[in-house]
Amino acid sequence: MGESDLLMTLLEVIKANPLAFRVFFNAAGSTLAVVTDRDHRILACNDNLARNLHLPEKPLGRFLGDILCSLEGEEGFSLLVSRQDNSLLPQIFRICYTEILFKCYTFAIEEGFLVLGDRLGGTDNEVLESMSLLNNELSGLSRELAQKNRDLEKANRKITELSRTDSLTGLANRAYFQERYQEAFNLARRHQMPLAVVMMDLDHFKHINDIYGHDAGDAVLRHFGGLVRESCRQEDFAARFGGEEFILYLPHTTIKEALSLADRLRQRLAGAAILENHYQVTASMGVAGLAPDDSPESLIKRGDQALYKAKDAGRNWVCAL
Ligand code: GH3
Ligand code: MG
Ligand code: MG
Repeated sequence: MGESDLLMTLLEVIKANPLAFRVFFNAAGSTLAVVTDRDHRILACNDNLARNLHLPEKPLGRFLGDILCSLEGEEGFSLLVSRQDNSLLPQIFRICYTEILFKCYTFAIEEGFLVLGDRLGGTDNEVLESMSLLNNELSGLSRELAQKNRDLEKANRKITELSRTDSLTGLANRAYFQERYQEAFNLARRHQMPLAVVMMDLDHFKHINDIYGHDAGDAVLRHFGGLVRESCRQEDFAARFGGEEFILYLPHTTIKEALSLADRLRQRLAGAAILENHYQVTASMGVAGLAPDDSPESLIKRGDQALYKAKDAGRNWVCAL
């Protein structure tokens, strides 16, 4: 018979003989069962509590903290409530004014709490043994807790990453771009270093969706996102700025260098076979370089104006302002 069979049999016997069980539970010298309200006032208990306290009757209505004392080093009275998922949290209490120790487990119930206790052996050695077992349990629990904290940190890192990423292309999203761009702008200003931005917009993208469908449109966005990523250096930063618009900032980069990077990117896209029937996918780009009186917004705005110039010039083109 396994442990769970034994428990099931026990539960059946208890259900069938509640009175017999009550007598046993009340009389067994090593068990303690107390029900309290949420303020830890005793609502019910088995006889043992009264017997261990040498009281003539059960201490109903009394504050449990006046009866169970925390061990030295612990402040005040509090119950460690075990969780539903079977991870028990043991606590050792001393019956006040005695040397009697109980190892207790507390469970949240509708009325407040159920505290179940098991009397710890009488001799010093037995108590020490119980304490060391308890310590092992506790260090197991703190190991578990440390692991859970590590998992939580990992999950939080993932959430942060997701909140910064455009899910279609895997590039940064607009909000995260703004955050990083602001930092890069301030740095360039402080050290009087060049900084360039490149605004990019796919040409006639609406046609692509209309002709090939939205999924093919998405594939084009992913492809272009990949090209943008590949053309970046470590310190460059690329993002999907919105729909079919992308943006790059390039620290330590002059407008001339940015123009040549943008043109290489433009050519790579125009030369790629992404869609069926040799449909050529192209993009227009606007480049702007940091000027002395620029604000973060005015630099991006100039990049945007350069992009419109490139569109006006017939698309599949790069302009600088
Ligand atoms: P232009 O050359 O002037 O930029 O023309 P355009 O057609 O590219 O520009 P327009 O702004 O008229 O259309 C952009 C289209 O991009 C419309 C919109 O449905 C599409 N779009 C925006 N976001 C997505 C997306 O995530 N997936 C797909 N497949 N299409 C998108
Ligand atoms: Mg477009
Ligand atoms: Mg657009």
